[in-house]
This record gives sequence, structure tokens and C-alpha cells, in this order.
Amino acid sequence: MNRRRRQQYLAAIGVEAWEPRRPAAAPAHAVPPGERLGLAPPEAPSWAVLRAEVCACTRCGLAATRTQTVFGVGDSRAEWLIVGEAPGAEEDRQGEPFVGRAGKLLNAMLRAIGLPRERVFIANVVKCRPPGNRDPGAPEVRECLPYLHRQIALLQPKIMLAVGRIAAQNLLETDEPLARMRQKVHVFGPARVPLVVTYHPAHLLRTPADKRKAWDDLQFAREAFARV
Ligand code: URA
Repeated sequence: MNRRRRQQYLAAIGVEAWEPRRPAAAPAHAVPPGERLGLAPPEAPSWAVLRAEVCACTRCGLAATRTQTVFGVGDSRAEWLIVGEAPGAEEDRQGEPFVGRAGKLLNAMLRAIGLPRERVFIANVVKCRPPGNRDPGAPEVRECLPYLHRQIALLQPKIMLAVGRIAAQNLLETDEPLARMRQKVHVFGPARVPLVVTYHPAHLLRTPADKRKAWDDLQFAREAFARV
């Protein structure tokens, strides 16, 4: 990495809004013709079936307290899949992952490595909000994870970024602390998708000193992606 670029990267650390150096050029396939005209592209039937199943899900107790399910959002041809823990209050209200304060920081983090939110797919391990923002329980994760597995099978991402301990531990089926999962390329599932772990943006809002390490993780993930 050249000096100027590194300085710009470093300048992005520790500030609330992580700005990209410049917006990444959209790949040729990024904007289907219908979207250019302002029309939403039709969803492939397999995605629509899965979305409908998630929407109607009552497999765990969270169904009783949610406002709505939070399926996931993004480009169904995305190469990057970002996986968080579970919806919070704002996500439960809007039906979209990472739309609260942590979401704004996540967007800035992604932009900083040249990935606008629209170019990735974002989902959670658990699709409904645990009341009071508690961690999702093991039975809730067990019931919900198959939906994420099906999303992964449809998306076939080239790389996954697990944000936060809960997402990483559940995806990797481990109880290792986050510090030991960072800076490694794990592999996920039978398709052996490379998976990189970093801090949850909500943690970074509480502990800005860790932004530097999160930045290193994002660089690490980008390098891993370049090798795929
Ligand atoms: N935190 C998460 O892990 N996921 C969300 O969607 C929002 C906050």
C-alpha cells in the first residue's frame, strides 16, 4: 500500500464517519436496466419463496414479540455477505438490518473499503429482534440458522464478513473469543466460503479505540477477497 493511501486510510480511523477515498466503480452488471429506469428488478422465485417462509416463521418465541421479520437486504448477486447478530429496535421497526446507529457505522466501514451498502448482502444470524436487545438464545439461533444457510446457498458469496462475537461464534460453531477469531481466514460450510471476523459496529461505537483494529480487519478481508 503506498504512503498516501495509507495516510488516507489512517485518517479514516477514529473519526465517526469513515469516508471512502473515492466511490468504487460499479461493475458492469451492478445496475440492471430496470433499475436504471427506477423499476425494482423482480426477485428470483427461490429468493421469494425463502423470504415468504421467513416472513411467516413461528419457529421460536421471538415471533411473538417481533414487529416484523428482518430477512436481509442487498444485491442478490453480491460477492460479499455481511452477517450480524440479530435485529435491534430500529431494524425491527423498519424490517431492514443495520439501519440504526451501528448500521450507519457499518455503512461507513464498508464504504471505506470501496463497498457501498448496495453492493453487498447484509443479513443476521437471527431474523427477529430479541426483546430488550439481549443476545439471541441457543434455541433461537438453532431454529433460525437454516434460513441463513439457505440465503448463503442462493447467494453463493465469494467472502463472508462476520461482525461481532455472536455472529462469528454461531457461524463457526466455536466459543473462541473474538480476539482469537480476528485476522484469520476461516472457511464456512461445505462450499468453503472464506470468512473473516471483525468487531461489531455497536462495539466500536462504545469502544472507539478498537476502530484501528477493525480497520486492520477490513484490510485483511479485502486482501483475502483479492485472493479468492
Ligand atoms: N446489530 C446486528 O447485529 N444486526 C442488525 O441488523 C442491527 C444491529
